[in-house]
Amino acid sequence: MSAYLEKLKNAEEVVWINPEKLTAEEGLARIEFSEADIDDAAARLVRFAPLIEKMFPETSETGGIIESPLTEIEAMKDVLNAEGAELEGRLFLKRDSDLKVSGSVKARGGIYEVLKHSEDLAIESGLLTGYDDDYTKLASDEAREFFSRYKIQVGSTGNLGMSIGIMSAALGYNAIVHMSMDAKQWKKDLLRQRGATVIEYDGDYGAAVVQGRTESDADPMSYFVDDENSSALFLGYAVAAKRIEAQFKEQGVTVDDEHPLFVYIPCGVGGAPGGVTFGMKVVFGDNAHCFFVEPTQCPCMVVGLETGKMSDICVQDIGLTGLTEADGLAVGRPSGLVSRFMKLLLSGEFTVDDEKLNPYLRKLWKNEGIYIEPSACATFIGPARMCSSTEGKKYIADNELEAKMANATHVVWATGGSMVPQEIREKLLNE
Ligand SMILES: *Cc1c(COP(=O)(O)O)cnc(C)c1O
Repeated sequence: MSAYLEKLKNAEEVVWINPEKLTAEEGLARIEFSEADIDDAAARLVRFAPLIEKMFPETSETGGIIESPLTEIEAMKDVLNAEGAELEGRLFLKRDSDLKVSGSVKARGGIYEVLKHSEDLAIESGLLTGYDDDYTKLASDEAREFFSRYKIQVGSTGNLGMSIGIMSAALGYNAIVHMSMDAKQWKKDLLRQRGATVIEYDGDYGAAVVQGRTESDADPMSYFVDDENSSALFLGYAVAAKRIEAQFKEQGVTVDDEHPLFVYIPCGVGGAPGGVTFGMKVVFGDNAHCFFVEPTQCPCMVVGLETGKMSDICVQDIGLTGLTEADGLAVGRPSGLVSRFMKLLLSGEFTVDDEKLNPYLRKLWKNEGIYIEPSACATFIGPARMCSSTEGKKYIADNELEAKMANATHVVWATGGSMVPQEIREKLLNE
């Protein structure tokens, strides 16, 4: 057994560097998606923007485009450095926690997949005459009646269910969300209030997905959002990279051979961080260094990559519980599709102890006045250890980045949080 696997088995925090990463050019050439697919997804979101604005007026400021702010968090950088991070350059928070409609990174991929499916159905049936038709028609009574004949189902630990459930129910679908035991009660309550059906399971995420998929497959009118294999989800997430390019310009951030970009993203099944990473590599090439973060009891992606077994191994196979407070990351087996791509593109991974999540949550709140959910807080282990750990230092040296680190930009991806109810926020802040 490798030294890494031994540490993972013991639920120790690790900094894992991917030994199989290729150059961006070589890696991307082996992936069946390309920049054109991301552009196609971005264009679809533009087509739907008038509809989104009509259905969700809170998106009117951005004309129905669901996008999140990129905020520099200098005070948090100082906090991490006071704790020994040795971080140079600038630190930013990508606030997908504040994405409208469903308050997490799932508002990218999840909503995108529902829209794509709806567009397919609407065009096939003649409800829309083509891509240049008026998409706000899809908010009409006639369209709702049409969509109500169809079901959309998904298995989820919480946030994916919220994005799929909220969007599907809003369009009129019969939305059914299969929730694992990790799912927080408030997420189930909110979904039911929005008109989705929530089915609860005693098992983990994998079990909820199997049930959801089985029920959906048995019903020809039902569509299953398959988080473990979905290319639509993946491409919806990837659009983030195209949009962050413009936000970097606004913030005076350069990414080039002299100005490296480090991105840290919490990982569950891998779809969201995988899609974002794919996009980042397409847009920024070798100058983007992407790292995933997972809980020490549930590091499914790094276990899959380190063993080479990808989705043929789960964290329980190496004796871990798979249990974590980070509900968004409580996935024991990685996506087969995404692990195959990440082997080629990902720089590495950090695992984080659950005990660190709440302290990060409170430090971000105290120093920046920004609230994000515990799963999202996992991301801070990235900048905390990138430049101070032995493995991180070696990565920087091996990639000849030492002299460039003063010019580096670090982006921590805040994957969720704005919909957490006030009483739960207070409880977590006062714990
Ligand atoms: C879903 C989620 C992630 C990870 O996304 P995956 O696609 O499952 O890897 C990270 N953080 C939060 C808050 C999430 O909801």
